[in-house]
Amino acid sequence: MGVIKCIGILTSGGDAPGMNAAIRAVTRAAIYNGLKVKGIYRGYKGLVTGEIKEFKSQDVSNIIQLGGTILKTARCQEFMTYEGRQVAYDNMKKEEIDALVVIGGDGSLTGARIFAQEFDVPCIGLPGTIDNDLYGTDTTIGYDTALNTILDAVDKIRDTATSHERLFFVEVMGRDAGFLALNGAIASGAEAAIIPECSTEVDQLEEFIKNGFRKSKNSSIVLVAESEITGGAMHLAERVKNEFPEYDVRVTILGHLQRGGSPSAHDRILASRLGAASIDAIMEDQRNVMIGIEHDQIVYIPFSKAIKKDKPINKDLVNVLKELSI
Ligand code: ADP
Repeated sequence: MGVIKCIGILTSGGDAPGMNAAIRAVTRAAIYNGLKVKGIYRGYKGLVTGEIKEFKSQDVSNIIQLGGTILKTARCQEFMTYEGRQVAYDNMKKEEIDALVVIGGDGSLTGARIFAQEFDVPCIGLPGTIDNDLYGTDTTIGYDTALNTILDAVDKIRDTATSHERLFFVEVMGRDAGFLALNGAIASGAEAAIIPECSTEVDQLEEFIKNGFRKSKNSSIVLVAESEITGGAMHLAERVKNEFPEYDVRVTILGHLQRGGSPSAHDRILASRLGAASIDAIMEDQRNVMIGIEHDQIVYIPFSKAIKKDKPINKDLVNVLKELSI
């Protein structure tokens, strides 16, 4: 691969607030450093179908505050096949794109890793997912905004839960990671969080009930991470109805509202720093790494490590929640 003159940028997989701030940062930093930028629409799909447009600085004006992604996002089955990736590579060559910046979650970065290996294309990943489940960065783009959306919702649910003296299970996103549920529970003053990371150790529902939930309280809110491992909020509510019929139980599934909204200051700054750093990485001849921030420092994490799916949850937080919810 020769000198890099033009970079392609795409957003892929689940959308996350702050993706636009990242698109803006990558575009502006690239232009600042004398590179051409091309926006690729609908994730890998646009690479396969050739939906690509040159971006100038003004194309990313007035987007830092917008949720979603102006490049759109999609899931692309063709890119899962070698033949599909070959078409994507041919389009890249046709468009004279020398390197890719991929903003997305672990699926998107897995795709980037495979593509980079097969076709010797420099790829840089930016962690864009509300789930915060990428290893090698303290937080991912979109996580903080989603957490704040959860707080807003739980504060409102608390009003009705208290009035009716009910037990509420609130299901939040996170796939197989409990970051949103656990930190959402701490920040909203919820009574418990049921998360996949603890499911093998104890029956979290039983523990919560046996510890005498409600005690002096007249309502209880439990945040549940959506996951096959926890079983989800519906499953837990069914269990309560069967095993502890004396409790008045309700379920709220927050769903896609967690993905929307204007990004928080934290996510805008994170996306701006990571986006600018992705261009530094390209200029330094880095490839096949995800850019992260750890302890306020930019770090480069090989794709293989970032997508390992074992980003640990800080178990101190589990204890903090336990102590403070008496
Ligand atoms: P996320 O990035 O949010 O985790 P997905 O897991 O849906 O989202 O992945 C987004 C896209 O990344 C997929 O639709 C596909 O195009 C690409 N992708 C994911 N896994 C692979 C893979 N193993 N090989 C090639 N491409 C992949």
